[in-house]
Amino acid sequence: MKKTSDAIGFFGQSKPVACPHCGKTVNMQMLRSSNGIGAFGISVINYKHDLFAICPECSALFGVDRKVSRIEARNTMDQYADIPAESLLFQQVLPIKE
Ligand SMILES: [Zn+2]
Repeated sequence: MKKTSDAIGFFGQSKPVACPHCGKTVNMQMLRSSNGIGAFGISVINYKHDLFAICPECSALFGVDRKVSRIEARNTMDQYADIPAESLLFQQVLPIKE
């Protein structure tokens, strides 16, 4: 695990899902737009998502489809989120250094 989880206030991780960016099966780090993603200088206002997933392998940032994020919003913070790979919308690779 890289230091992504130290830098961002994650609320949990997804069930294993194939990352659409690097192809590895990973537990995506889940976060909400209010969780401090701005620490990387990213303006979340530009994103039309309020739930995000970050691949711990390649640091790709995905917006989660609202249909899924609405469902996941009802779950508690500690539960694993069941995020289908097709609901992950690639945004950018975060400038996270190891
Ligand atoms: Zn990846």
